[in-house]
Amino acid sequence: MGKIISIYGLPGTGKGTQAELLAKKYGLYHFGMGNKLRAEIEADTELGKKIKIIVENGLLVPDEAIRAVLQNITKQAQETGVIFDGFPRMLPQAKILDEILAEANLELDFFILLKISAAEAKKRINKRLEKENRGDDQDDTVINNRIAVFHQESVPLIAYYRAKGKLIEIDGEKNIAEVFAEIDKYLKA
Ligand code: AMP
Repeated sequence: MGKIISIYGLPGTGKGTQAELLAKKYGLYHFGMGNKLRAEIEADTELGKKIKIIVENGLLVPDEAIRAVLQNITKQAQETGVIFDGFPRMLPQAKILDEILAEANLELDFFILLKISAAEAKKRINKRLEKENRGDDQDDTVINNRIAVFHQESVPLIAYYRAKGKLIEIDGEKNIAEVFAEIDKYLKA
């Protein structure tokens, strides 16, 4: 059975890039929470309408929206394994994930923390802006909000996974291939 992994870090850390590489190498389903939420907003669904302003301001959307986009994920987790990118992002979400997975007798294998400085995060967000033109990458106040949210939520979340022995800490400041090789060591083991 495929692994169930989550990758976490400051905005701009490279979570999405590493998640894609892991998905490709191990045949995992790439569940990008930010991507799913942006797709809802772009499609102007009922859910998208409710979360638009929140995402545009760099704040976290409520659990109800998170649960809605997680529907059917256990089936996917059973079939292929999943790499979650940007989820869980706060302790209550970690508990939601545990609960959803436990219903199918599954559990998270690893919680990968990609560590970079806030200064490097801002540099990378600016670089991404040239390529992707994401609304929430454009405004300094929004970027600072996202960084502040990370600093607020990360301590209990990281402590939770450390206590469970599931935390993997990776230096995210290296280049894409080096970071991937570091992560891969744990997955191969
Ligand atoms: P990302 O693409 O991971 O940078 O996420 C972009 C934005 O989507 C975040 O700033 C939040 O507004 C929202 N978002 C993404 N993941 C979550 C999550 N797990 N919980 C709440 N909001 C989220």
